[in-house]
Amino acid sequence: MIKLLTCIECPKGCVLSIDIESCCITKVSGNECPKGEEYAHQEIENPMRILTSVVLTQGLALKMVPVRTDKPIPKSRIMEAMDEIKKIRLEKSVKTGEIVLENLLGIGANVISVRDVGLA
Ligand code: SF4
Repeated sequence: MIKLLTCIECPKGCVLSIDIESCCITKVSGNECPKGEEYAHQEIENPMRILTSVVLTQGLALKMVPVRTDKPIPKSRIMEAMDEIKKIRLEKSVKTGEIVLENLLGIGANVISVRDVGLA
């Protein structure tokens, strides 16, 4: 099976042609640098994503605060991660970049605020 994927590691956006046999990558072509091959392996074997969401607040100037993970997490665990984020009720003011949940799902990524929010 051949899968086509656009490399997003730089603005060139090379179209990668990935040969896959029995769930294993046998060949990557179309990449103009080694990063493309690394990207193909990452994306096919263990896709990762930065998760963005919002958390509810209590007593703050906004009802919800936008948040994101500070590093990519496995795509396969996004729903589980969302369930954890939904449990958060932020009651103290936060600054941009401040951790609102440490070590999400025990995978070493923190959930951080992406804006300043003060008390109501
Ligand atoms: S393969 Fe290399 S040159 Fe092409 S988009 Fe990816 S990083 Fe950029």
